[in-house]
Amino acid sequence: MNEQEILIQKLQEDLSACKKELADLTLDQQNAAKLLIRRDLALSRANEQLKALDEAKSQFISVAAHQLRTPLSAIKWILHMVTLGQFKDEEERQDFLSKASESTDRMISLVNDLLEVDHIESGKDHFVFLPVDCSELISSVVSDVSALAAERGISIMTDMKAQAKAVGDSTKLNGLFQNLIENAIKYTPSGGTVYVSSTEQEDCVAITVKDSGIGIPLDQQDQIFSKFFRAPNALKTQTVGSGLGLFIAKEIVKRHGGKIWFESKPNEGTAFFVNLPKVR
Ligand code: ADP
Repeated sequence: MNEQEILIQKLQEDLSACKKELADLTLDQQNAAKLLIRRDLALSRANEQLKALDEAKSQFISVAAHQLRTPLSAIKWILHMVTLGQFKDEEERQDFLSKASESTDRMISLVNDLLEVDHIESGKDHFVFLPVDCSELISSVVSDVSALAAERGISIMTDMKAQAKAVGDSTKLNGLFQNLIENAIKYTPSGGTVYVSSTEQEDCVAITVKDSGIGIPLDQQDQIFSKFFRAPNALKTQTVGSGLGLFIAKEIVKRHGGKIWFESKPNEGTAFFVNLPKVR
C-alpha cells in the first residue's frame, strides 16, 4: 500500500467512525424526543387534573355559599323586622324568632357537613376502630330521633337481632345511622312507617333502614351518593338539606371496608342497606 492508499483508508475509517457517532447521536436525539413527548403528555394530564380539581373546588364553594345564603337572608330579614318592631303581636314575633333559630341550626348543620367533607377529601379524617354494638347504637339513634318522627306523624319499627359487634368508629357510625334514619323520616309523608333492623351474617353485621316514603326517581338513582345531589321530588317535599349526607355516609362505609347500597321505588319507598365487617 502506498502512502496515498493508506491516507484514503484512514479517511474512510474516520468517516465510518463519524457516521456511527452521528447514528448514535440521532438515536439519542430520537429517544430524548420520545421522552419529551411522554413528559409533555404527563404534564398535560396533570394540568387537566389540576383544572378539574380547581373546577370542583369552585363548584363546592359556589354551592356551599348559595346554601348558606338562604338561611342567612332569612335571619337578616327577621332581625331587621325585630329591630323595627314590625310584628303584629308577640306570638308572631316568637314565631319568626323560632324560624330564625331553625335557620341557625340549618347553617350549623351545613357547616358541619362541609367541614366533614373537607376532612374526608383532604385525608385529615381520623377514625378509631373498636368493637361496636350496632344494635345498641342504632337503638340510641332511634330514641334520639323519636321526637322528630312523632312530630312528623311517622312510626318507627325496630328489629335489632345482631348480637355480634362490628369493627367500627362509633362516632362516625352514629352519624351514618342518624343520617339514614333522619332521611327516612324526612322523605316519608305523615302516616308512613320507617323500619330499622340489624342482623348478623357470616362475616358482617347487616343494617337496613327502610321507609314507605317518596322514593328516588329511577333516572336519578345513579347520582344519589354524589356531593350536593338532591332529587327534584326531595327538593319539592323537603326544602331543608345539603345533599352531603349520603356522600359522607358512603365515605364512612368505605373507610370501614363495608358496603352501602339501596333499593327504591318512586312513591312506594326506599331501603338503604349497610354491611359492616364483624368482629371475629
Ligand atoms: P339531604 O337529605 O340533605 O338532601 P343526603 O345526601 O342525605 O342529603 O341525600 C341526598 C338525596 O338523596 C336527597 O336529597 C334525596 O333526594 C335522596 N334521598 C336520600 N334518602 C332518601 C330516602 N330515604 N327517600 C327518598 N329520597 C332519599
